[in-house]
Amino acid sequence: MARYTGSVCRLCRREGMKLFLKGDKCYTPKCPFEKRPYAPGQHGRDRMKVTHYAKQLRSKQAMKRTYGIFEKQFRKYFSKAVKAKEVTGTMLIKIVESRLDNTVYRLGFALSRAHARQMVNHGHVFVNGRRVNIPSYELKPGDTIELEEKIRSNSDVKQAIEISSSKNVAPWLEVNYDLFKGSFVRMPEREEVDLPIEVQDIVELYSK
Ligand code: SF4
Repeated sequence: MARYTGSVCRLCRREGMKLFLKGDKCYTPKCPFEKRPYAPGQHGRDRMKVTHYAKQLRSKQAMKRTYGIFEKQFRKYFSKAVKAKEVTGTMLIKIVESRLDNTVYRLGFALSRAHARQMVNHGHVFVNGRRVNIPSYELKPGDTIELEEKIRSNSDVKQAIEISSSKNVAPWLEVNYDLFKGSFVRMPEREEVDLPIEVQDIVELYSK
């Protein structure tokens, strides 16, 4: 499957929720979802009966789109979550949250997950002192993340840090913006992750 190259704001409108895919714009009145909080297209405003299956499907799509994950990889994550001793939905969240691109974004070094993914792809991120250019790389508790020196003066990175400095970093992470360094201290708990998606829907959908 090719990567989606259309308007990402349409994805928010399709899922009926803000997926925060555009960085700073998502927090301003310019956010298209604030102006048009209905599905895109000719019938976007029509009232349609939402079946249980459709609800489950939308939850899955919303989660995949939030983290920028393809179906094949997402299925693999689900299989891994099923095999774990923990509750499947909780484990699924822990797995996607431990991705390197997501963590770079959560640490506040990138404006969006897509921006973080690009930084990792281009080799600007080090894990435990070694360059890692795989966005899906799964971090383990205790891993350190550091930005390469030449990307530190990048205007987008500077802007991301400026925005993030006034916010609290996720409780399972630690960050030092002066050193452009952070760490994945531990796995997150379900209630710590601000994800307005019914993960149980996804578990039910894939368990059919
Ligand atoms: Fe979604 Fe952000 Fe676009 Fe708003 S600005 S519709 S939250 S991607």
